[in-house]
Amino acid sequence: MARKHSKHDPYGDSGREEEAQAPAVVCWLCGRPTGKTIVLHHPVPKSRGGRDTVPMHPICQQTLMANFTNSELQRHGMDVDGLLADPRIRKFVDWVANKDPDFTATITKKQR
Ligand SMILES: [Zn+2]
Repeated sequence: MARKHSKHDPYGDSGREEEAQAPAVVCWLCGRPTGKTIVLHHPVPKSRGGRDTVPMHPICQQTLMANFTNSELQRHGMDVDGLLADPRIRKFVDWVANKDPDFTATITKKQR
């Protein structure tokens, strides 16, 4: 079959080599590539009207949930730098930096 030279493709058909490899999904919190399990975290809690989601490691989401209330998460919203400025989160991210992407642990919520 004859293939017409199409000028309709705005992105061009060449150079799409990235299809060969899985796109790297990077965790919103710690910046490491995600592992097998990716959770879609609502930076603004769903119950507070948050609609945006970000990919995260389960352990990173658990850490946020264990250290912040919904109100605090809502206040930070998409501002991950604000969360990283918290010493508890900074410490966690530094600690988890060398762990396997699929590393999980039970993060216990502190009694308030
Ligand atoms: Zn992470």
